Amino acid sequence: MHVLITGGAGFIGSHLAEYHLARGDQVCVVDNLSTGALSNIEPFLGDPSFRFVEADILHWSDLGKTAAWADRIYHMAAVVGVKKVLEDPVAVMATNMTGTEKILRAVHGGGWNPQVVIASTSEVYGFNPKGSFAETDDIVLPSAGRLRWTYAVTKLADEFLAFSYARKYGLNIVIVRLFNTIGPNQVGHYGMVAPTFVRQAVHGEPLTIYGDGAQTRSFCDVRDTVVALDRLAACPRAWGEVVNVGNDQEISIRGLAELSIQRANSSSSLQFLSYKEAYGEEFEDVTHRRPVLDKLRALTGFAPKWKLTDTLDDLVEQERAKMLHAVRDSREWPRLLTSSSARTRY
Ligand code: UDP
Repeated sequence: MHVLITGGAGFIGSHLAEYHLARGDQVCVVDNLSTGALSNIEPFLGDPSFRFVEADILHWSDLGKTAAWADRIYHMAAVVGVKKVLEDPVAVMATNMTGTEKILRAVHGGGWNPQVVIASTSEVYGFNPKGSFAETDDIVLPSAGRLRWTYAVTKLADEFLAFSYARKYGLNIVIVRLFNTIGPNQVGHYGMVAPTFVRQAVHGEPLTIYGDGAQTRSFCDVRDTVVALDRLAACPRAWGEVVNVGNDQEISIRGLAELSIQRANSSSSLQFLSYKEAYGEEFEDVTHRRPVLDKLRALTGFAPKWKLTDTLDDLVEQERAKMLHAVRDSREWPRLLTSSSARTRY
């Protein structure tokens, strides 16, 4: 199978690449490396079944040709992370909405009708107070522009774009609402909580809990996520549908902090920060967020396999390995003895 992954050097995209290469597929990744990283795909660069194109999907001249080559397209390219969204809402609007429209046009123009997965997010449920969300639940967003919701609005626009193309042209598109995906290679620069807590715990720093830590999330290991996406893409009953993807085990953010400290065997303390301190402005956090997975199960039979403790253990191991590398890379030249007896002989 020929697989195109936009945003394939990103966290989830690079796991998709690894998954499909392991199955013997040919994989083309396009990424502008804005939030993705070359290091995520470095292990595949020598593989003849793998091709990497460094390009922005907004300006990539080979998009049409590559979309026509693909049997399956995962559209993962997006500006993500609440912090990033607050920093640059204009870039978020452009990449997330124009990018998706370009992909859909290319798919329609290619004439082959590949399977397409469009990545959306649990953020689209907005501040619906239910806490546990099924695909049929209402979307609750503020009536007047508050930038914090920019990401959710762009993703909702993407969903409606995808629906329109699926309906009008009969395209094989499934829209996935991803709930708090975590796992190896995720970085904390853009605010994501799990890599941030693990890094802090491994380095013995205080774990920064925003608010009182009673807010809850349900974290899904990326290695489960990619299996769910693969099954949905191949499931004709899922085409034209929106489907939650995640793990429905819930934990409070304080609970996650304590578990991270325990798994890292760390003596770090907890540090509570107000949202104003954390985000530099008043911030509406989502209090509870858990996916209802009935639809995903009914369509694919999928159930997540990874336990949160096992994912955290992997993250701790990866952080420790990074720390060792950093120490090794920063080694200075050893101080050499200068006495004649200690001179190096060749
Ligand atoms: N969070 C936190 N400390 C951090 C980073 C995040 O307490 O260092 C909180 C954040 O306010 C939110 C939760 O952890 O309540 C999940 O944040 P993340 O950005 O990972 O995901 P999202 O808010 O999109 O669910």
